[in-house]
Amino acid sequence: MKLLLVEDEERLVEALTYLLKKNGYLVDAAQDGETGVEMAATGVYDIIILDRMLPYLDGISLLREIRSMGLDTPVLFLTAKDSPKDKVEGLDAGADDYLVKPFFNDELLARLRALCRRKGKDLQGDTVDAAGLVFDPLRCEVTKGDEVIHLTLKESLLLELLIRNYGRVITKERIMEKIWGYNSDTEMANINLYIHYLRKKLKVSSIKTVRGVGYFLQEDKNVPTIASTAYSS
Ligand code: CA
Repeated sequence: MKLLLVEDEERLVEALTYLLKKNGYLVDAAQDGETGVEMAATGVYDIIILDRMLPYLDGISLLREIRSMGLDTPVLFLTAKDSPKDKVEGLDAGADDYLVKPFFNDELLARLRALCRRKGKDLQGDTVDAAGLVFDPLRCEVTKGDEVIHLTLKESLLLELLIRNYGRVITKERIMEKIWGYNSDTEMANINLYIHYLRKKLKVSSIKTVRGVGYFLQEDKNVPTIASTAYSS
């Protein structure tokens, strides 16, 4: 589970990051509202913990903005404002839960678990799998046996492309187009680097290289076919 913490009090950021990491969450922090929107908009987070009073853009405006983008990431408001009116405003803006500062760590962790469970139910059935890897695109997570491996957004896009084209070669040009876009300044060499990251993170030998052409995912030694629908999807 990957969390985004949007909070401007440095000490609280440090304490919460420590607490959450110790409890198995991956945590990124944004210390103002504008950075919070940018990071939330990447869509890679499972839950957002959001402070209400923030520099540049307050928590309520941030929440309205990400909801208007169509982002449905669960949001837990963490705030010193505790009047019923404040709570109603927070929930109406699109928050999924509300916790008043100061709070007990155990209560925060329990509420996060509840949000994870709810999110888990919403996302069931969206995984794709091949070569012993079960990939969840919305969570950017791969399950390999008992292990759950978290990927960055680019790694996720690359793996999804490989899984959906299982056994077929994907050319470097196609990877470039699908992940970085036609007009990107990204060098082809970056693709090699991301393939290297994926192999290392997933500890697999099933991502094969066709020198000078591209890559494919396959467990056995069968000769792959070049994907014929190179630019159609
Ligand atoms: Ca604050």
